Amino acid sequence: MENKLLLPEANIAVQKLQPYQAGKPIDELAREIGFEVDDIVKLASNENPLGLSESVKSALTEMLSGLTRYPDANGFYLKSELAKKYSVSNDQVTLGNGSNDLLELVARAFVTSAHEILFSEHAFVVYPIVTQAIGAKAVVVPAVDFGHDLTAMLNAITDKSKLIFIANPNNPTGTFLAEDDLYAFLEKVPSNVLVVLDEAYFEYADIIARGNAIEWLSEFPNLIVSRTFSKAYGLAGLRVGYMISSPQIADMLNRVRQPFNCNALALKAAEVVLNDEDYLNEGVALNNCGMRDLIAFFDKYAFEYIPSMGNFITVDMKQSGDDVYELLLREGVIVRPVTGYGLPNHLRISIGTEAENQRFKDALINVLNLAPQI
Ligand SMILES: *Cc1c(COP(=O)(O)O)cnc(C)c1O
Repeated sequence: MENKLLLPEANIAVQKLQPYQAGKPIDELAREIGFEVDDIVKLASNENPLGLSESVKSALTEMLSGLTRYPDANGFYLKSELAKKYSVSNDQVTLGNGSNDLLELVARAFVTSAHEILFSEHAFVVYPIVTQAIGAKAVVVPAVDFGHDLTAMLNAITDKSKLIFIANPNNPTGTFLAEDDLYAFLEKVPSNVLVVLDEAYFEYADIIARGNAIEWLSEFPNLIVSRTFSKAYGLAGLRVGYMISSPQIADMLNRVRQPFNCNALALKAAEVVLNDEDYLNEGVALNNCGMRDLIAFFDKYAFEYIPSMGNFITVDMKQSGDDVYELLLREGVIVRPVTGYGLPNHLRISIGTEAENQRFKDALINVLNLAPQI
């Protein structure tokens, strides 16, 4: 056998992929710098600093003995809760193992290597990964003021375009598209091109400005609204997200998903927390407070930041963001470098609790030798 040492080759598109770079885990940094886990502050993955909702904690404890059973493959109860909340029917809801799972399902169900997928410069990094994994062509439309340029995106549509990803608010820039502008955009997108409106940070966005794109679904059958329980609902570790679309699109997504893509704990936790308005409101209020605090800090030290509608803020460090990131790590503070997003001088900081934000501010003062705060 001459070919004994020839290993199987992955698809060319897969070989060219760069794996997703997650925020540095707390345990990992604790090991590296010899800190206790509790002394590390992680403001790197836009997680909810409130901790798990108490209502979810007790519901999950009650579920443990049932874990020998497979979960409900159709997520009936969670779908029903979502359908009720958003005044849609159950067959318009698709559940995912996080919304990342769903972003990939859309591409796999609708797009081939003959198609183009459009998204903005500085947009969420999962879009290029998903595009490349299926060998489709990525059309990256230059941003304006760090946000989506909807006119340029319309102009970039060709007869090969099949899918447009729009994150609103966008990660990592926090930029936000006004409801009217989005609506006017959707009116001009050809109906055979899908638009995924990724609203992972919807609950943090200004309640008036954010409108409700779900109400547009009857008018735009090519629209898919994507949301998640990972951010404002505080369930990032359980992995559950959802898409709301026409029943026809949901049917197609349902054909390609794994039968049990949402586990039993995740389904239950999401169902419970969706009705826990106090938890949601407390988290949003904490975020608004922390955002004001960090903005005041950046203003005071004349750092430019990108105004954000999310639970994070992206700031120009006026030097290599990667270098400042490394220095902050040594202080036990994990933030997110965004060089991979074409922003080499910026850092993205998730809004934490008051104490966590303070640790970040102190650490930055320390590593950059800023004048101490009065
Ligand atoms: C965090 C985030 C998601 C959500 O990811 P999950 O898989 O639901 O945890 C989706 N889109 C954007 C833009 C995000 O920042």
